[in-house]
Amino acid sequence: MDVASPILLTPGPLTTSQTVKQAMLRDWGSRDATFVAMNREILGKLTSLVHATETHVCVPIQGSGTFAIEAALTTLLPSAGHLLVLVNGAYGTRMVKIAGLAGRTVSALESREDEPVDPAELDQRLNDDPTITLVAVVHCETTSGILNPINDVARVVRAHGRALIIDAMSTFGAIDIDAREIEFTAVVASSNKCLEGVPGMGFVIVRRDVLENCAGNAHSLTLDLFDQWQGFAKNSQWRFTPPTHVIAALHQALEEHAREGGVDARGARYALNHRILVDGMEALGFHCLLAREVQAPIIVTFHVPADPRFQFDDFYDRLRRKGFLIYPGKLTVADSFRIGCIGHIGPEQINEALTAVGLVIDEMGVIDCTPLFEVENSGVD
Ligand SMILES: *Cc1c(COP(=O)(O)O)cnc(C)c1O
Repeated sequence: MDVASPILLTPGPLTTSQTVKQAMLRDWGSRDATFVAMNREILGKLTSLVHATETHVCVPIQGSGTFAIEAALTTLLPSAGHLLVLVNGAYGTRMVKIAGLAGRTVSALESREDEPVDPAELDQRLNDDPTITLVAVVHCETTSGILNPINDVARVVRAHGRALIIDAMSTFGAIDIDAREIEFTAVVASSNKCLEGVPGMGFVIVRRDVLENCAGNAHSLTLDLFDQWQGFAKNSQWRFTPPTHVIAALHQALEEHAREGGVDARGARYALNHRILVDGMEALGFHCLLAREVQAPIIVTFHVPADPRFQFDDFYDRLRRKGFLIYPGKLTVADSFRIGCIGHIGPEQINEALTAVGLVIDEMGVIDCTPLFEVENSGVD
């Protein structure tokens, strides 16, 4: 195991292939024809991954995924609009904050962190409040790893004639989203999650006929999605310095995505990683937060064991020294930590990680990984 370059079992950035890293070993002029052609090719491929080339355009934004979310929300929501965010984790909460800071009218429809958002409740809310113009939902809420029912959400939003933004940051490229089957105004994702590129670029796949009417909505120069789009329409170039190396890496990553077999094959590899991870952790005595039927094969939340010898920071450091980076929990409902199933990793790496977890809990002297609530439920004091 290469401890200097650990395997990232996190929600991103993620482990990338050697060839994706190598794609960054040259410099690109941002106005050069070869770069312009590569850029155009990427935007086309991203749009076709969700089967939206007839109806939507792909507009990239420099920065992390949140930059693209902010660009989408503030460009698609005029100051007279009203956004409703379906919230069951930190990324939903963040969208509420973004819209509030931009001075937009925003409401939240909250669910528990360990339960999917509820399309029936959304239906009721849209019935009750005709002022809502735009709904936002997170596909996989990476806070817990839960999969939200975006197809049902889209059906409800469509029935009420409102617009829909899907934060598909942690699913794009691995879980199918098909614009011919599900009606969305915009899908937002980034270069560095399931596409297995490096961080530095977000993108929004947005209906052309909607974006056409969004001039002047954005309150920011850099995050104006309409203006960014117009820049490409004018001369195929980014308005401001593009993340050239990130784009070259994404170009390579998309080729590897296609060679693997596209969305289905990538999703199948992650599903296998996920199954091996959950089976292995359960065999070691850990408990998952979520019920299997609502868990996405992206990242898994585990309860922290009740045993006082288990200290997360110690657990983390010891795994780090064995070459694996995991992620702390971000939940309010339970003390937890997370292990990701995504990135350029397969069963071999997951099995190595499980071996490392087993060694580490032995080193720490943890005998029983049962979480506190299970100990309490068992009724033994
Ligand atoms: C990763 C992620 C984001 C964006 O996070 P950045 O750190 O800004 O890249 C947004 N939403 C979800 C669901 C995510 O998983």
